[in-house]
Amino acid sequence: VPEGDVVLRTARRLRAALAGKVLITSDLRWPSLATADLTGREVADVVPAGKHLLIRMSGGLTLHSHLRMDGSWRVHPTGRNGAGPRRDHTIRAILANADWTAVGHRLGMLDLVATEDEDSILGHLGPDILGPDSSALPDPEPGAAWAHWDEDEALRRLLAQPQAPVGAALLDQRNLCGIGTLYRTEALFLHGVSPAYPVGSVPDLPKLLRLVRRIMQANLERVQQATTGDLRRGEEHWVHRRGRKPCRRCGTTIQRGALGPPTQERDTYWCPHCQPG
Ligand SMILES: [Zn+2]
Repeated sequence: VPEGDVVLRTARRLRAALAGKVLITSDLRWPSLATADLTGREVADVVPAGKHLLIRMSGGLTLHSHLRMDGSWRVHPTGRNGAGPRRDHTIRAILANADWTAVGHRLGMLDLVATEDEDSILGHLGPDILGPDSSALPDPEPGAAWAHWDEDEALRRLLAQPQAPVGAALLDQRNLCGIGTLYRTEALFLHGVSPAYPVGSVPDLPKLLRLVRRIMQANLERVQQATTGDLRRGEEHWVHRRGRKPCRRCGTTIQRGALGPPTQERDTYWCPHCQPG
């Protein structure tokens, strides 16, 4: 499942292929966009926001997409006939310039919005765990929460519901955005806290947030979403998807359970010995 690091890597790849160039092909296979034509527009930038992707174009238009469970954007050299594989039924969008063709597969969301109205789609999101750190900006503008990382704001939102299980609170994109089940699960193991623990009682919550940010940033330059430092298959994670296996640290059997609001429960894993409470 794509998390913020995958979305950020995808944005970089799309930016390298599309930014500064004019679209010569636009094929949006989405009911509400069937008649939209983006050809002739120049792509200005490609920006990630949590798990959302914004492709900004000339004329003040933004193509917004979300990868959901298994979506992806792939980039191919533009073929002699304009684009690459067109008949694949998983394709939701094709954008091409003279050099590169970007193909969106199995996108969970696709819409066009005025760039100045992006907040109407993303306004509910909290600070982006992988966004530029607002405290490091020379002249921080009080822009949208999702456009940067603001640890104080994320803490404020998390602590507004101190009784919420920390495992669910970290996934609630309104508190902070970009974290998915894998990094949530692994960071809680490394922090030594059970996913069911009330977020307001987690020792040193700022340290936990810095830990998530650090392990996600560490994976930006590689394909694997490893957290153990071991990139071998099956060795990449401490507890994620390791239910009933022995903890790598203490040998205790790893537990598996569901966490989250009704109908939105997600699997989580933890070691009852290393993560008490
Ligand atoms: Zn353990």
